[in-house]
Amino acid sequence: MSKEAKIYLSPPHMSGNEQKYITEAFESNWIAPLGPNVDAFEEEIAKYVGVKGAVAVSSGTAAIHLALSLLGIKKGDRVFCSTLTFVASANPILYQDATPVFIDSEPDTWNMSPQALRRALEVSAIDGKLPKAVVVVNLYGQSAKMHEIASICHDYNVPIIEDAAESLGSTYKGKYSGTFGKFGIYSFNGNKIITTSGGGMLVSDDVEALIRARFLATQARDQARYYQHSELGFNYRLSNILAGIGRAQFEVLEERVEVRRAIFDYYYKELMNLPGFQFMEELQDTRSNRWLTALTVNQHESGTTVNFLLDLLEKENIEARPVWKPLHMQPLFRDCEYYPHSSDENVSEYLFENGICLPSGSSLKEIDQKRVIQCIKQAIGTNSDAQHRSDTQILLS
Ligand SMILES: *Cc1c(COP(=O)(O)O)cnc(C)c1O
Repeated sequence: MSKEAKIYLSPPHMSGNEQKYITEAFESNWIAPLGPNVDAFEEEIAKYVGVKGAVAVSSGTAAIHLALSLLGIKKGDRVFCSTLTFVASANPILYQDATPVFIDSEPDTWNMSPQALRRALEVSAIDGKLPKAVVVVNLYGQSAKMHEIASICHDYNVPIIEDAAESLGSTYKGKYSGTFGKFGIYSFNGNKIITTSGGGMLVSDDVEALIRARFLATQARDQARYYQHSELGFNYRLSNILAGIGRAQFEVLEERVEVRRAIFDYYYKELMNLPGFQFMEELQDTRSNRWLTALTVNQHESGTTVNFLLDLLEKENIEARPVWKPLHMQPLFRDCEYYPHSSDENVSEYLFENGICLPSGSSLKEIDQKRVIQCIKQAIGTNSDAQHRSDTQILLS
């Protein structure tokens, strides 16, 4: 059976201007983890999201690690973290020998449940074990309920690290995602809304802290003629070549957001009426960059399962994914504490078991998106077109 071309979940999408910046870097021989592209990329992102400064680093993970280091998190400290996320949100907690505590999602945004967070903080305060930071994730471009979360953290005087790896360009009540905490981080990994092939950014209004971030990210070298080091540092700066790719990508960020939003809208229009299909809602007064179109498929109402859909899409050479497996369910974190949304509601577990992410890359062609939609409609059996039915039979045989 001849297969149609593969449709990827979220492939890199170049703007066409990348070579210009790379060539400039080559011609000026700025082939280093510093240089004019790095400086400009940092300034551009800081200005765009509205913060005092930014530090370009080698990955989003590195940015989270730096934020934790800057907050002085060390062995034995507790750090709260959204459970429904990619492992990179929590791995840096382990790099610091600290202890992650996972907080469930709430149903509206799929992000950190304010009520679970409050409960976790209440219990921790009574036990005298308040966390040193809270890592709040904005999943698939959707902002968490940042005002509620910030106000709760403020009550307990616990700083927020906002993991906006997936939500660059999103806004919450008019303010850019990633700017609500003491620190925010972005990722420019190959699958993100803009990419440097690999890279990240740490942002903050604390200019002093960012100076220290640069110091820590360049091996914590003391000011001396020789190489002297009084503290443990990292090699985390972004290369000037990659920052050049980032600058060209940044030029088209707003366009990319618009396209991903249009992709979401089209899936929504076509699939929202299927029984049991529920798309991730956009919270009022927010704009999601719709990095990935995510939805849940209720087994009883739809008569199908996410696993069945994933198999079918895979057979059609379409890359779709389940929603992130919650970190409290990961073998790596099996001994960690976890606070569910309520005593009888595990929202993240429901989302994991019933959630699916559809191909959402900004280079997705309409004809390809139609292929994805068709495949799903066939699976649900609502497509009455005979031709499509026979396609389904081929698929299932
Ligand atoms: C991609 C991602 C990261 C890590 O970013 P890298 O640049 O790949 O290190 C962190 N958190 C979330 C939620 C992500 O999706």
